[in-house]
Amino acid sequence: MLKQMEVDGQAIEKLKRAFAYKLFFQQGSLPISASLNDYYLAVSCTLRDRMQALFINTVAAMAEKKSRIVCYLSAEFLMGPHLLNNLINLGLYDAFARATRETGLDLQQIIEHEEEPGLGNGGLGRLAACYLDSMATLEIPAIGYGIRYEFGMFDQTFEQGWQKELSDRWLLPGNPWEFKKSDLAVEVGFGGQTATFTDQEGRVHVCWTPGSVVKGIPYDTPVPGYRVNTVNMLRLWSAEAPKSFDFDDFNVGDYFGSVEEKIQAENITKVLYPNDQPFQGKVLRLRQQYFFASASLQDMIRLHRMQYGDLDGFHQHFAIQLNDTHPAIAVPELMRLLVDVHGYAWDQAWAITSMTFAYTNHTLLPEALETWSVDLLGQLLPRHLEIILEINRRFLDTVRSQYPGDEDLIRRVSIIDENGERCVRMAHLACIGSHKINGVAALHTELLKQHTLADFHRLWPEKLVNVTNGVTPRRWMALSNPGLTELIASAIGEQWLTDLDRLRELEPLANGPAFRERWRAIKHDNKIRLARILRERTGIVLDPASLFDIQVKRIHEYKRQHLNLLHIITLYNRLKRDPGLDLTPRSFIFGGKAAPGYFMAKLIIKLINSVAEAVNNDPDVDGRLRVAFFPDFNVKNAHAIYPAADLSEQISTAGKEASGTGNMKFAMNGALTIGTLDGANVEIRDQVGAENFFLFGMRVDEVEALWAAGYRPRSIYEANEELRAAIDLIADGRFSGGDRHMFRPLIDSLLEHDPFLVLADYQAYLDCQQQVGAMFRNQEQWCRMSILNVSRMGLFSSDRSIAEYCEKIWQVRRSPVALKWERLPSQGIVFPKRPAAPRF
Ligand SMILES: *Cc1c(COP(=O)(O)O)cnc(C)c1O
Repeated sequence: MLKQMEVDGQAIEKLKRAFAYKLFFQQGSLPISASLNDYYLAVSCTLRDRMQALFINTVAAMAEKKSRIVCYLSAEFLMGPHLLNNLINLGLYDAFARATRETGLDLQQIIEHEEEPGLGNGGLGRLAACYLDSMATLEIPAIGYGIRYEFGMFDQTFEQGWQKELSDRWLLPGNPWEFKKSDLAVEVGFGGQTATFTDQEGRVHVCWTPGSVVKGIPYDTPVPGYRVNTVNMLRLWSAEAPKSFDFDDFNVGDYFGSVEEKIQAENITKVLYPNDQPFQGKVLRLRQQYFFASASLQDMIRLHRMQYGDLDGFHQHFAIQLNDTHPAIAVPELMRLLVDVHGYAWDQAWAITSMTFAYTNHTLLPEALETWSVDLLGQLLPRHLEIILEINRRFLDTVRSQYPGDEDLIRRVSIIDENGERCVRMAHLACIGSHKINGVAALHTELLKQHTLADFHRLWPEKLVNVTNGVTPRRWMALSNPGLTELIASAIGEQWLTDLDRLRELEPLANGPAFRERWRAIKHDNKIRLARILRERTGIVLDPASLFDIQVKRIHEYKRQHLNLLHIITLYNRLKRDPGLDLTPRSFIFGGKAAPGYFMAKLIIKLINSVAEAVNNDPDVDGRLRVAFFPDFNVKNAHAIYPAADLSEQISTAGKEASGTGNMKFAMNGALTIGTLDGANVEIRDQVGAENFFLFGMRVDEVEALWAAGYRPRSIYEANEELRAAIDLIADGRFSGGDRHMFRPLIDSLLEHDPFLVLADYQAYLDCQQQVGAMFRNQEQWCRMSILNVSRMGLFSSDRSIAEYCEKIWQVRRSPVALKWERLPSQGIVFPKRPAAPRF
């Protein structure tokens, strides 16, 4: 195990007493009657207490320091389970393992009991969580601001192979990690109207009278850095009715009317929207966005005014990062707060606002870009619409003076899309209101410059920068792959965990047969672990000696799970034709959720399960191919999946995946990648070397050329015998009990349109997979490549990403936390004798 905090026998005794104390006084249980959940809560609260002094010191230091605080605004934080992560980051795993053991408990079992808060869809929410970990580890003063959804991402099960969604009641067992701060509640208005008035000095003001008001209550979760004093804060907002539903003057006796108002208010944070990429213009979603953006800004403003009296230097003290356009309504909201509420002139308010915000773009898919109907936005947020239009008017004036006569440019860059129903383009609002815009991988940023944001790039050549995504090696290596972590630590020490470039020191070891043997044994153990879980959950038995070929990510046509399927069906056909075929045994593992309303994605899930059924039970296959769908892919399940992969499937159509982060997690855990030149795959291949990466498929320019030339997928189908056989097998009902209609929409889509060029890349993919299969037979060579992949993954630590954000965008530096408010030996807190600090 990694080097731990030093604890003596006395400290262990204290821990044991703390478990009993929490169990008795907090859970109201005795050891003989306590449930596993009781023990989980008791142990977690004991750990939480050990973080508390660091947490309070960090937050107090933020309120005192003049340095900038990073405020990371994100509608999603996919944090994953907290207990083990916090034990690792604080260096308390051994102490807790010993104390629980001596209490007669099993720490592993308690850790396994924790359900994760699924407050995100996938990559974007998980990125926010990795960044919080890295900001704390790099001792950056930072707050994550988001939404405390009562129901997070749905749980996925299957019924006859079809996805079924179950509601996620994550708060039911009790959440030991959060602190409710009722006294820091804020009010957020909706609807109503605006009025203009002139003051005694002749200045014109606008006054917004909302039609309804909702209370935002913050819940704070500590985010400890790895082995540092910094414990930052994730502050999530929950909506409540502003007052208890008593009978007020306006609806005397209207009991049900006032209850309904309460329900309306609380609906705002009821449920996470479970669609990953495509945009859905639902008014409740806009309510969610404005609710948390406004609450977060009011929180910052309160703090700033307590410290400095005014808001003149707001941008010097807060750097706000917009994680996609979901919180972009914060731009007009800060303008409103500065101008309408705090009396700033427009120009000064605009200077402050545009120096405060920076915006991260996450997608090139046009269907994913947020645009709100002007009418809808005006009804929900009438004052904000006025402000947006004024921002736009002034912006377009400057563009006109720079490019006189270019009305086409004006139409293209305007915040308002005037084609058809008038819409507010949130990406344009975010670009105009920010001092920096970033893409999330080198290729993605290039494509933003050339296409999506080309006009803005021409207007402000300095504004658009790249920060390639990263993932935290604490969760994605130390926590989820303890075997590999220990092996690496035994070879090169532990510093790589906070300085991932040092994994390079492993490179020479790739040539050592003994080291390779240990490396392979760990991978094998991880495969056994995954196979065991899969067998428990699906009944499907996998051979750990086979090649584990894994694709886990949201189910989406652009990610091309169906390309993977066509390969499997092709291998199946080959085996059927020639049962004696010498084939590298493979286990294909899928995982991922489909948006509940995304018909094609759900059909792909059904097809995967149906192919699995057919292949796994066909005696001709004789176990050489296995297909399994790991149900309910989430962070907790991911811990067991990434470390068990031999092959990582990163096969999106070139130009469609902004970055990907699953690709990084796989490679860090020793999987080799089969992938297209898309997103961060490009940089991963650059780092690990072309000879250690299985590249296939069209590049972005070839994709563009093919569309320009006219693409006819059917002609590819007709010309390729194996492809035809694979598609025909689906179409003929081989995987649907003879039903030729079930998968027809998928077949038709592929043959008639194939919007993601599955057929165009099919042969290249097959050829590349052939090489993979051959290479896997040379286990020594494969293992060498695996070690080299890991040793060259330093660039993809989220520590590097955060260091780049600090330097290129936020202008903040490391700020270690000194422990001023120490714990007493009796575990109380010393309160220093000095004036009260601003309250966080
Ligand atoms: C990393 C991660 C993702 C993102 O995966 P991609 O392959 O980059 O799409 C999605 N969901 C979970 C649970 C993850 O851990």
